[in-house]
Amino acid sequence: METVLIQKGRYDEDEIRPLVFEMLESLGRGLFSPGMRVLVKPNLLMAAGPEEGIVTHPLVVRAVVSYLLAREVRVQLSDSPAVGPFARVLRRTGYTAALEGLDVEVRPFEKTRSVDVGPPFGRIEVAADAVDADAVVNLAKVKTHTQMLLTLGVKNLFGCVVGLAKPQWHLRCGIDRDQFARLLVAVYRTVAPCLTLVDGIIALEGQGPGRGGTPRPLGIVAAGRSAPAVDAVLCRLLGLDPTQLATHRAAEEGGLLPPEIRVRGDFHVVDDFVLPRMAPATFGPPTVSRFMRRHVLQKPVVDTVRCRQCGQCEKYCPAGAIAEAPRGVRFDYERCIRCYCCVEICPHGALQTLEPLAGRLLHRLSNLRARRD
Ligand code: SF4
Ligand code: SF4
Repeated sequence: METVLIQKGRYDEDEIRPLVFEMLESLGRGLFSPGMRVLVKPNLLMAAGPEEGIVTHPLVVRAVVSYLLAREVRVQLSDSPAVGPFARVLRRTGYTAALEGLDVEVRPFEKTRSVDVGPPFGRIEVAADAVDADAVVNLAKVKTHTQMLLTLGVKNLFGCVVGLAKPQWHLRCGIDRDQFARLLVAVYRTVAPCLTLVDGIIALEGQGPGRGGTPRPLGIVAAGRSAPAVDAVLCRLLGLDPTQLATHRAAEEGGLLPPEIRVRGDFHVVDDFVLPRMAPATFGPPTVSRFMRRHVLQKPVVDTVRCRQCGQCEKYCPAGAIAEAPRGVRFDYERCIRCYCCVEICPHGALQTLEPLAGRLLHRLSNLRARRD
């Protein structure tokens, strides 16, 4: 039976350190031995302040690193932020200050290793540091995700796919949400973290996982050895049936869900967590007809007042569908595959999704039908 711990917590070093030590001691017994090389993988999406609910909080990371150092392992902390440079991300997120004085090697993922994950994806390039580590500790964040509903433990490891390879995967295999979820699960299986801890003390609700979302204090930390089990429990805590999450369905399909999960700690249902407005279940050129793209799927739109014309979205877009405009940016909606990577990574929160009239009507109809059934 798999155990998932849920504990109440606050971002106060005197509180979070003993809390994290207790959780890891209870779950991690026997996992770490002196001299092992342990990789810590937080969610460092972008240069955002710790209070914004976008990155794993630096005090949580400090507590986990301190625990590992106390086990006499060699600790490395790495990620591949969507928007760099890495040193700036570390400063802005508070990691530079939080990790000061700790014997931890901090560097971005750079080198990759080609790993055969089997059909349908074949070989994928994953961060060599993640594949080569003796153990990986996954430090995720509770956030909504415009494309995948939520990003929790399993999705956090997509950060081990380095740099611009991430949006390229959206283009190459993101035919539909379930297929993309299978890729996420393949990455999870490859990296195989021995522990997953998810920071939900300040979560992100609404149009996450970037600056389009809204910080939402939940006051909880969740942890377990199995990320799919932790995610399933967090779904229930947020008032969702876990099968609503594509990564849950993919993990179940891949035989990664434990048959029984025991929840220990302070589980309470949050029934007013604001989920993102979701596009229909398919996206990407092979399955999305021109009609669907034009009239039903949500499209990215720019707030020209907020846009600073930094060029990050143009650089990141896998479809080459964004160009600079006299004010803000211009989208080529015929090329856009509706992956919403641009909305996720805009450092100034200038991008949102807009649902066309036909899409809104369809949503309303399906809600009415669901209520009638
Ligand atoms: S929309 Fe955002 S990412 Fe794109 S240019 Fe404007 S500020 Fe930069
Ligand atoms: S414009 Fe945005 S949503 Fe469209 S393909 Fe590019 S990154 Fe994805």
